[in-house]
Amino acid sequence: MLKVHTIGGYDEVGKNMTAIEIGEDIIVFDCGLYLPAVIDLQEAERNPTPQMLKSAGAIPDDKFLLKNKHKVRAFLITHAHLDHIGALHNYAQNFPQAKIFSTPFTLEVSKALMQDSKQHLKNKMTYVNPGESVNIKGKSNTYKAEFLNMTHSTIQSTMIALHTPSGIVVYANDYKLDNNPIMGKPPNYNKFKQLAQKGVKVAIIDCLYADSDRKTNSEKIARAMVEESLLKVDHGKNAIIISTFSSHIARLKSIVDFSKKLDREIVFMGRSLSKYVNAAKRVNQCPFQNDVRIATYPSQVKSALKKVENNRSKYVVVCTGHQGEDGSILDRLVKNKLHFNFKKNDSVIFSSKVIPAQVNITHRAAMDKKLKQRDVRIFDNVHVSGHGGREDLREMINLLKPQHFIPSHGGFDKTIPGMNLAKELGYIENKTSHLCKNGSVVEIR
Ligand SMILES: [Zn+2]
Repeated sequence: MLKVHTIGGYDEVGKNMTAIEIGEDIIVFDCGLYLPAVIDLQEAERNPTPQMLKSAGAIPDDKFLLKNKHKVRAFLITHAHLDHIGALHNYAQNFPQAKIFSTPFTLEVSKALMQDSKQHLKNKMTYVNPGESVNIKGKSNTYKAEFLNMTHSTIQSTMIALHTPSGIVVYANDYKLDNNPIMGKPPNYNKFKQLAQKGVKVAIIDCLYADSDRKTNSEKIARAMVEESLLKVDHGKNAIIISTFSSHIARLKSIVDFSKKLDREIVFMGRSLSKYVNAAKRVNQCPFQNDVRIATYPSQVKSALKKVENNRSKYVVVCTGHQGEDGSILDRLVKNKLHFNFKKNDSVIFSSKVIPAQVNITHRAAMDKKLKQRDVRIFDNVHVSGHGGREDLREMINLLKPQHFIPSHGGFDKTIPGMNLAKELGYIENKTSHLCKNGSVVEIR
């Protein structure tokens, strides 16, 4: 028998964590942050302590795992987004014997986060490239964990298949089915079918957009949108400022590729951009590393912006701040806190969408208002999602044919539509499909 403990990410979009208990062993998938709580905290305290994060509900609950500390064998992290890896350095220190496995880019990001917060983990960290597998030693069993290449909105994302004596557990949180990714390979559908043939016992699948009747567009479409907004619009001699998700290395590649065609110099600004781009460089996953200059520290940002101010037609600035985050480069630009003043007809391209948490909605509305007051042109939603829609979910379930299905990546507003689709596909609630909350336990025989 195996037990699925849905620890975090089942009441909210964030702090993803699911633990699989097989007899004397526990293997944990993901260890993320609930970002809206972190942002709220950071408005009062720049570097919140682990205790502050815990009491604000920003990291997954640790009661169950602490009670069973001696059984925790490994943390398997699917990808580098903060809602999947951001809590690891605050969490895994309580389980020093547990090994950490993830892709090189993901672990490099984790190391950079640790450096930022001056923390250190004793846990052994092991790189697993997409497509590779590892063996995890339990008390009396050895478990094979396959890190299957999966398309999403950051590089080296994976779907994990954990082989246990009670059957295969598939954890697909997060995913999209992108047949034309800009970096990395398309999903390996043959491998999915092989897993289905062997028999998948339970699949935990990202249902963030299970209520959207769509198949999510490929990143190739986002690339075309970036091209349109940069090359098919007359930006004249005005400034061009672009903001996107710092971890979205493939999107940054598209932005750099088309900016080069404009014959403008490309400057990246902001600490988080620099963190992710440097992590990508360290693992040889940064195809544009020779095409951009990175301004990380205040003095570098200051001197770069002075040049942009005086020669606005010569540069494309790529910066942080698409969610209107306090203290981001774009936020400070808009608030006139940096050495640059927006002028009429300057362009701001948001290669992003507002993540629907109240804090982001409020921040972005205030930012957009200030930009409009200065007659800045705004190109919003130059973006496609990294999460599958309802039709991707249908494909996933049909490909993997799991005996049991658990919807994840949000509260009931996200997971009930997943349950409804499962019902359409023949699953029976509480028998073969399971609606979970944080702290639920599903026993599977
Ligand atoms: Zn993600």
